[in-house]
Amino acid sequence: MAKRNLRKIQIDLRQFALPCPRVGSIEAHSGYGQTPKLGQEIHQNIQRKRIREVPGYVAEKKLSIEFEREQYLFVISGRADGVIEGSQFQVEEIKSAFDVEGLEHKLTVDDNHPYVWQLRTYGYILYKQTGEVPDLKMLLVSSRNFKQSEIYFELDIEAYEAWLALRLAELVEETKIREKLFKKRVVSSEELQFPFSSPRPGQVELIENIQVGFVEEKSMVIQAPTGLGKTIGVLYPSLKDSLARGQKVIYVTPKNSQHQVAEEAVERLQDQGASIRPLTITAKSKMCFKAEPLCNPQYCEFAKDYYKKIAENDLINKVSKLRSLSQKKLQELGEQYQVCPFELSLEAIERADVVIADYNYVFSTRSLLGRLELPLMEPNQKANLVIDEAHNLPARAQDYFSPAISTRDLQNIIPSLGKINIRFQKRAQLLCEEAIELIESYHGESRTIQINFEPVFELESRMREFLSEYLEADIEIQTQDGVLKLVNLWSDFAQASELQGPEFFQTYQKNRLYGEINQTLKLTCCDASVHLNEVYKSFKNVVAFSATLKPFSYSMKLLGFYELTTKCLEFVSPFPKEHRKILLIPQISTKYKDRPANAPKIAQAMERIMAVKPGNYIALFPSFEFMKDVEGYLRDSTYQRLVQQREMKADRVDDFLSFMKSADKPTLLLAVQGGIFSEGVDFPGDMLIGAFVIGPALPNFDFEREQIREYYERSYDKAQAFNYTYVYPAMAKTIQSAGRVIRSENDKGIIVLMDSRFLETTYAETMPQGWFQQGAQELVSGKIISDVTDFWNSIQAPMESEVEA
Ligand code: SF4
Repeated sequence: MAKRNLRKIQIDLRQFALPCPRVGSIEAHSGYGQTPKLGQEIHQNIQRKRIREVPGYVAEKKLSIEFEREQYLFVISGRADGVIEGSQFQVEEIKSAFDVEGLEHKLTVDDNHPYVWQLRTYGYILYKQTGEVPDLKMLLVSSRNFKQSEIYFELDIEAYEAWLALRLAELVEETKIREKLFKKRVVSSEELQFPFSSPRPGQVELIENIQVGFVEEKSMVIQAPTGLGKTIGVLYPSLKDSLARGQKVIYVTPKNSQHQVAEEAVERLQDQGASIRPLTITAKSKMCFKAEPLCNPQYCEFAKDYYKKIAENDLINKVSKLRSLSQKKLQELGEQYQVCPFELSLEAIERADVVIADYNYVFSTRSLLGRLELPLMEPNQKANLVIDEAHNLPARAQDYFSPAISTRDLQNIIPSLGKINIRFQKRAQLLCEEAIELIESYHGESRTIQINFEPVFELESRMREFLSEYLEADIEIQTQDGVLKLVNLWSDFAQASELQGPEFFQTYQKNRLYGEINQTLKLTCCDASVHLNEVYKSFKNVVAFSATLKPFSYSMKLLGFYELTTKCLEFVSPFPKEHRKILLIPQISTKYKDRPANAPKIAQAMERIMAVKPGNYIALFPSFEFMKDVEGYLRDSTYQRLVQQREMKADRVDDFLSFMKSADKPTLLLAVQGGIFSEGVDFPGDMLIGAFVIGPALPNFDFEREQIREYYERSYDKAQAFNYTYVYPAMAKTIQSAGRVIRSENDKGIIVLMDSRFLETTYAETMPQGWFQQGAQELVSGKIISDVTDFWNSIQAPMESEVEA
């Protein structure tokens, strides 16, 4: 008889094998969510050993089974870590964990755990294939010391099939809901309209190019200046393409503050009638109901029985009926049903059409990648990924993989240890002092080292024991609890031992910070491009954009894109060129050795230029020290001065911006390149009429940076290693700094670049199209003040374009 026309649904076995009905709490070994990427090497080593030692051992055995229910054919597939074929018929799952004792305890007391259902499902597939019931073995391995332990489970076929019937019924319901969501998205795609009746110049070209890129299945690296409307210009085609495939867009930015721009773009689409549901992932610390996000059922009632409460109250479906998945709404639901609102926001990802999140939710070692993928995955059913401000991604990704611990970090915890329950104070302080001594034991000059992780693990183990005792005692956990901070900090560093490969090196660093000696142990990742590329595989299309991505060959490499499958595009500013004057002063040198001699010249040049046209200006320096030096030479009292401080709080930054908006006296803001005032901040209209970019802000020339340069020499183009390490990152800051002046088509202003290096080809080639015709020499003026005067005079007279308007 011919098979019915069934809809085939592919399901990864790990997403299939879940307790039914759901049970469990949010905790370290819950078994829900994604298995960590780290630890794969441990798996492979054990498998190789097992192949050598155990006759009939097959590693990574591909297993698959089909179940027919209603109109669906569910195809469940996975790879069992090991199957022993022959007389000792056995299926083996390997689980590695840093805290393997905790996992062992969990699995021993809970045989309704997702890991056990995985093992049973492999066993059941083998039983269906061979008619024999295999033994089930869980092999637990410590990623800390590689110690192993085994737990055996039975496969009771009758009990398994009872669970199976429930799970398949549940899947049928889930699939119907998902199909409805898919269909709704396809309709939304057809209806999705660009929200402006007349797109800006360049915007149509941007959208069309992205659409062509999707057809060609190419990743895209796009440089586009402010004013092009690039956020909506990238989001619109990305969303249209995703929705047409029943999927969503994941939109990532480097800072929470930049989420707002993306949220506003989504709102504009909604205002035009788009039926789309956005979700912004808000940081756990902001969503959490407790004093500390200590996510385990002993401490937090919102973690306790979380999965059970979600299922019993049908919360995922309740969430999917909400028009907006706002932080407030999710917290209300969390309160009402006593579930963690942060975790609930992650559950809501599946039902959202646009997810706006920080980079770390996609790219860090603790990313949510597993949550961003649909459980029912077909090749085409992958989200599109949009990376905003992509010039930040290589350094951010390297940071995710560059853990460090310093004596200062630990010393900063000591005061909070004095506030904990008196019973625990002394021991906590001793543990903290031991940690400091361990770092100090490396003493001497800054250098590359091989960190001996044995004593780190040993101390970590004692800290964990202490933490258990601390949490089990009936005491109040405080906000910013010192014990939690200490143990988390040290544990995170201990786990860094798992980071290995040619792109890593380890250092001991000694420097002076705020007058005190600070000592640091650090693992540095020189290049996260392989990891980034791995992440992209979870998405159908990837579009990375920013105002500063040139040279493209550099950005492509460090962003993890391959030349053959990537399309690079540059767009020019849509604003009238006559609104902007760019000048280059090569007589100034900001090289470190030349700074004392040049500080007075810089101050004088700024004051002369500002005197031509009073208003608000910003001066962006390569360092705080140099900024202070130059400030000392400023004489003009007709200007108020605002000076950026190190580690400025957000409300203080807002104060500065409000001040500049309403200032009744001309203001000069002194700030650093790459800082809070030079990127991601808008100074519209008269809030800023000029920017002085004082030299390229080359990263500090230290031994760590030199190790990175040597890595680039070995791995990439030797001749380009210096540029990759120093010049290109510096120029990204320069161009971001210069970009503060012209933020809208009515903005007018001057940009003054000070340093002869800006004339060199390697520096000039990174400058955006439209800054000059042939070369940066065109920006040099022999009569700066008269050029600036002419520029402002020409601005006073109505522009041709304005007359027409
Ligand atoms: S409410 Fe806070 S502590 Fe509880 S699970 Fe959520 S984030 Fe963790």
